Amino acid sequence: MIIVLKSNVSDEQILNFSNLLTEKYDIKVNTWRGTHSTVLGLLGDTHLIDSEALQAKEIVESVKRVQEPYKKANRAFHPQNTVITVGNSKIGDGKLSLIAGPCSVESKEQITGIAKAVKESGAGFLRGGAFKPRTSPYAFQGLRGEGIELLLEAKKETGLPIVTEIMSIAHLDLFEDVDVIQVGARNMQNFELLKELGKTNKPILLKRGLANTVEETLMSAEYIMSQGNDRVILCERGVRTFETYTRNTLDISAIPIFKKLSHLPVVVDPSHSGGIAWLVEPLCLAAVAAGADGLIVEVHNDPAHALCDGAQSITPKMFDTLAKKLSAVKNNI
Ligand code: PEP
Ligand code: MN
Repeated sequence: MIIVLKSNVSDEQILNFSNLLTEKYDIKVNTWRGTHSTVLGLLGDTHLIDSEALQAKEIVESVKRVQEPYKKANRAFHPQNTVITVGNSKIGDGKLSLIAGPCSVESKEQITGIAKAVKESGAGFLRGGAFKPRTSPYAFQGLRGEGIELLLEAKKETGLPIVTEIMSIAHLDLFEDVDVIQVGARNMQNFELLKELGKTNKPILLKRGLANTVEETLMSAEYIMSQGNDRVILCERGVRTFETYTRNTLDISAIPIFKKLSHLPVVVDPSHSGGIAWLVEPLCLAAVAAGADGLIVEVHNDPAHALCDGAQSITPKMFDTLAKKLSAVKNNI
């Protein structure tokens, strides 16, 4: 249930009113204060609440029951876009955010070299996998803790905040200095992991699962937010369909749908969607035109010899050309 308060209410009135609600009912109240209105989001079992009685209160503008099962992630609870700030970089502030870097961290030279190059082209974040979810247990599994150390060295040299994937909560200590924790597609419904990440204060880049709906993705965001961490970034990375030409099918329509249903920023991954380097550019352009807040792109200095996902990795030079085209699209929509 959401209660929109009249524009002239004071902080004291808001506090008294929400205290009254929490004392009377077994609920939590989430307050969102905008410049022109205040929205109280009621979380918990609200079916006993008499909405007509609330509507009659002096300070209340309107009362609405929220049908969707996700509440904190719902735009009704938080009408303005959420902006996530990490150091000097932002996601969701209306500008296009670029997250770029290799699929996997391979060496100090590799990650630092790529970090410098993508920063020069306008990336605001460095990505790089340290713990890799590979289909085969015999494939390269990532440099793990050492990979995170190398990302931190690249951060020290470039100032770029780092984004890297967590696969098990047992590794959380290693992520202490990581700026944005990625939850990969395969873990989108690892609810215990999501709940633990909800207790941290780190931004979480939540990738849509391989075969999950928009609503399931928002419910996974809700798992994180329900524990107190509101800094969630949604990531559309393609879903499984009958098509085999591409690795996955980029669901372009998910971008405006996520933006309509939720206030959380939306980032698109063209690399794991298409799975082919030459497709990265058109998919990025389409994503930006459809309203994406950012892109997460795999960039490798030597794609032919990459230890993981070389076929979908673009070179720093291609990334530079891409970044220029993206600015042109962004500035014209
Ligand atoms: C990745 O970003 O490196 C990755 C494994 O992506 P996904 O979880 O989307 O497959
Ligand atoms: Mn990859």
